[in-house]
This record gives sequence, structure tokens and C-alpha cells, in this order.
Amino acid sequence: MYENYEIWWVTGAQLLYGGDAVVAVDAHSKEMVEGLNKSGNLPVKVVYKGTANSSSEVEDIMKAANNDPRCAGIITWMHTFSPAKMWIHGLKILSKPLLHFHTQYNAEIPWKTMDMDFMNLNQSAHGDREFGHICARMRVRRKVVTGYWKDEEAQKRIAVWQRVCVAWADSQDMRIIRFGDQMNNVAVTDGDKVEAEIRMGYHVDYMPFSSLMPYFDAVKDEDVDALVAEYFKLYAHDKKLEDKSTEEYRKVWNSAKAELTLRAVLKDKGAKGFTTNFDDLGDVNVETTGRGFDQIPGLASQRLMAEGYGFGAEGDWKSAALYRTLWVMTQGMKGGCSFLEDYTLNFDGKKSSILQAHMLEVCPLIAEERPRLEVHFLGIGIRKSLTARLVFTSKPEKGVTATVVDMGNRFRLIVNDVECIKSKALPKLPVASALWIPMPNFEVGATAWILAGGTHHSCFSYDVTPEYWEDYAEIAGLEMVHIDKDTTVENFKQQLRMGEVYYMLNKSLYL
Ligand code: MN
Repeated sequence: MYENYEIWWVTGAQLLYGGDAVVAVDAHSKEMVEGLNKSGNLPVKVVYKGTANSSSEVEDIMKAANNDPRCAGIITWMHTFSPAKMWIHGLKILSKPLLHFHTQYNAEIPWKTMDMDFMNLNQSAHGDREFGHICARMRVRRKVVTGYWKDEEAQKRIAVWQRVCVAWADSQDMRIIRFGDQMNNVAVTDGDKVEAEIRMGYHVDYMPFSSLMPYFDAVKDEDVDALVAEYFKLYAHDKKLEDKSTEEYRKVWNSAKAELTLRAVLKDKGAKGFTTNFDDLGDVNVETTGRGFDQIPGLASQRLMAEGYGFGAEGDWKSAALYRTLWVMTQGMKGGCSFLEDYTLNFDGKKSSILQAHMLEVCPLIAEERPRLEVHFLGIGIRKSLTARLVFTSKPEKGVTATVVDMGNRFRLIVNDVECIKSKALPKLPVASALWIPMPNFEVGATAWILAGGTHHSCFSYDVTPEYWEDYAEIAGLEMVHIDKDTTVENFKQQLRMGEVYYMLNKSLYL
């Protein structure tokens, strides 16, 4: 998917120093862009778009960027002094993410040979401040990366932003389908879908469960048989599960049919994510009619998540969209990500932790071992039935989890560094799970999360760092609060109060 996008590079200059200077600026820029592309550290190709030497040139580039669906973002760099009034009209209309790279063509000052011409040509120290000023003055949301362009650390910070740019572009035509409505009476998973589309780009639709039935009816038995065979090939399982005469086999088969039904709908509707609701699974007489889902489609949700479909349980469309975004950000990375839910607490002194699971819907990308296909009774929701699912535990490594909540006048992105630890066997709870200690410790981490109004649902990744979420919040214009090793409840409360004031003053502005 990353190959479908490019990041544009525009170098700021001016004609004051003469045509020769601009030629040199152009050559340096080309070399730098080529160097970045060859570094192997950037997941998205950077395309050099030339120097901008006037207001109209800047405006033309910004218009072109806005109109090109391949362009996921723009990097600007001021080689020489680039008077920033010439950036005003372009910045006013730019609708793509912006990264201001404060770097310089040459690494070290050539102490013995440097003359005035050289200094005038290599004026990023000067020009990047002028450009930074106009961005600050215009409240342009952007990422500033400071560092030498050949330096891996600087390149890695650009890489993070590039990944977020692609995820952002992906969310601009994202459609999330709610199969069934929100779970009744739940506050935290609900919110303003209109504002979400204005702010984050994605669109949320509702499909009554009955509208799935034509898709269900169209699924061919032989396709279901083939998918069941794939399950048995992919996942560890008891050999007796393959016995076609058993109720367990029938449940696996029905799960596969549910998966094919959901796939058909999502494909037909061009949807990138979905939600389910365990209280709404269609005809309650499914056991006699044979039409509809006879169990929560947990296995399907697990598998679809692994392929990048956004998923939120109980109608949680915000988590479905956020998960899809997280999955896109981490494409090609090895750690894995999942929708998770704070399930139950384990008080154990300094090792106190939270068991993360869901009824069934945890993504196998975070599994430590080969997932195991099992069928067990699930006594919750409208179907109390034997239900297929993948069972596994998760890798004991550090990660980051995030959620978005609707605060009424804004969305708040809450991010928490967590440490997954080794879980113990749960013979009576055969579901996928993770066990983590939120940073800085269970007590402060959970307190801060609750003070911020965080959900019991979140989107977890072993790969992303808080910087990814910071870049995302910047691009989307979301409030972000980050709970990490340095968080204290006192400081965190102060940060929340500051946010209230900031967004109260600016609630009508798209800052
Ligand atoms: Mn839930």
C-alpha cells in the first residue's frame, strides 16, 4: 500500500542571490532527496518538486499537492533565506500533512574556506526560522524534524511521519460499517460521527443485521468447506475438531460462513472496518431456520483484523477506525497490533497488571505462539452457544496502546506506554489475551487513563512509539495526552485542565 503514495519535497529559496545560487540549491536538493530514498530508512518514496522562489510558485505546488491523490504529505526545507510572506498563500490552502525539515546540505562548517557566498548559500539556520515563524503565526499544524539529512535518527523521524501520512490518507476515504447499532446505554464507545468525519476523515454507516442476509444466502458451501480446511491448516487444533459429525465442527463451519458473509459485505461496500454487537445477530430462530449467525462472529473478527480491517466490538466505531489507522501505520513491521479491552485486574504489588482480552476478538498478529482454534460455550449476548475462536497469549514485550474519546467539544487521543508481561494459563477462560502493566505503574497509569476519560477498549501495538500518535494527533488536530514513565497524577491533571482551557477558547477554530 505504501507504494501507492509519495511524499513531496519542496525547497525554499529566492532569487536574491542570483540564478547560480538557485542552480546550486536545486542540485543539492536533488542529491539530498536521492540520499533519503537510498537510505533504506524511508518507507515512502520522496519526490523532489523543485525550488519555490515566489509566492505564486509556492501556491502552485500546494495546489498540485492537494489535487494529487498520490501525494500523502509535503516536506519543506529552506536552503537559503526564503522570505516567508511568499509561503502565506500556499500554506493557507495546503490540505496535506506538512513536515518542516530543519537540516543543511553540508554537515560541518568549512572553517578555512568559508566566505560570504558560501554562508549566504547555506542559510538553513536562518531560512528555516523564517519559515517556522510563518507556520507558527498561521497556526499551521506540522511536524518539525531537526537533524542532518544523512543521520539515521533524523531519517527515522521522517519515516514515522511518512507512515502516519499514509494512514491519514487511508482514513480520508475510510468507511466503517456498524453491523447492528451501538450497544445500548454505553457512553464511552459512542460519539459524534459528524465531527469524526470532519476531523478524522472517516465515514461511519449503519447496516441493520437483516441486510446481511442476501450476502449470507449467496455464500457457497464449497467456499465454506475450503475456508474450514484453511483454518485447520493454519491453526493448531484438536484432531477431533475435524470430525464432521460433531457439533463443534458444525460451529467452525458456521463461523467460516459468517466470515465469508462479512467479507462479501465489506468488499461490496468498499469498507475498511466494521463493528459488531453481540446483542444483534439477526434472526433469533437461527437454529431452526439456518439463516443468520448462530454465534458471535469472533473468529471472523480476529481474522479480518489481522488483514487490516478495522474492528470495534459493541458498535465501537471509533476503535474500529483507529485500529485500521494503526494497522496501516505499522505495515511491514513485525510486532503486530490488536483491538483490546481492559478485562480484569490483577493486584500484585509492584507487578499489578490488567488482563487484556475481549470476549473473543483479539487479533492473532500479537500472538506469541501459533494460535489455537477452539470451540467453547459462550454464555453472553443474544446467542448463548458453542462458539469458535482463536486462543493464544501475547508476546511479553513493551508496546503502546491508544484510544479516542469524544469530550463533547473535541476528540481526545489518549496514549499509554505499556509493558506486556508473561500471563499464566487460563484453562477456564479459553480466549486470546495479553497481560500488561501500564506505565509508569499500574496505579498511576490506570488513574491517569480514567481521569482522561479513556475507554475500556483500545488499540495496541508492539511497533509504534508515542511519536506516531503525536504525529497523527498533529495532522488530525486532536488533543493528545500521553501517559508514560514520567507521568504523575498531579502533572497529568494539570495537563487535562490546560486542555480544557485551550479547547474552550478555540472550539470554533480548526486549529
Ligand atoms: Mn468490549
